[in-house]
Amino acid sequence: MKAADFTKLRKSMEKSLDARRFEHTLGVTYTAASLAMCHGGDVRRAQIAGLLHDCARNIDNQKKISICQKHNIEINEVERNYPFLLHAKAGSYLAMQKYGIRDEDIIQAILNHTTGRPGMSLLEKIIYVADYIEPGRKKAPNLAAIRQEAFCDLDKALFMILEDTLAYLDSLEDITDPMTRKTYEFYKDQMASIPQM
Ligand code: FE
Ligand code: FE
Repeated sequence: MKAADFTKLRKSMEKSLDARRFEHTLGVTYTAASLAMCHGGDVRRAQIAGLLHDCARNIDNQKKISICQKHNIEINEVERNYPFLLHAKAGSYLAMQKYGIRDEDIIQAILNHTTGRPGMSLLEKIIYVADYIEPGRKKAPNLAAIRQEAFCDLDKALFMILEDTLAYLDSLEDITDPMTRKTYEFYKDQMASIPQM
């Protein structure tokens, strides 16, 4: 992807997102780039994935559902009840079709940015973590500690986010996507198998 294409994508996002979401998007873009620098990831791909991760966020729910239905993208029960969650699935589709992204890892990072998944790639982890810690975020508990950890041990930061996310979602009862729990269990086992220093 050339620099000009990045500028074009940035302009498209500014147009399709409301001002607050666009600010969040820029926060994720630069945080993801910094995390890639820190952990030896591809900085350019982190920027592009960050820029596009919420590209379907401001599309109305009915349209998100119809994008998924039209392209045989499965909608689970939680997504049916809370269609805004579909912005990850619809967004990964738009990234390919509308924004011409061919890089499978970028598409996966967009697809999995709301729930995570067991066995995430470095880029997927970076986007998941950047989405949670970007400078515009304010309310999450332990944010300062998680931000610090993200630039030391990315897996540990990821696990802290999963833990806090599940605790939060459990307090809302029926909104937890089963994939979030699966991801949590996977990284819990992984953390347990690493000797703590
Ligand atoms: Fe999102
Ligand atoms: Fe986001």
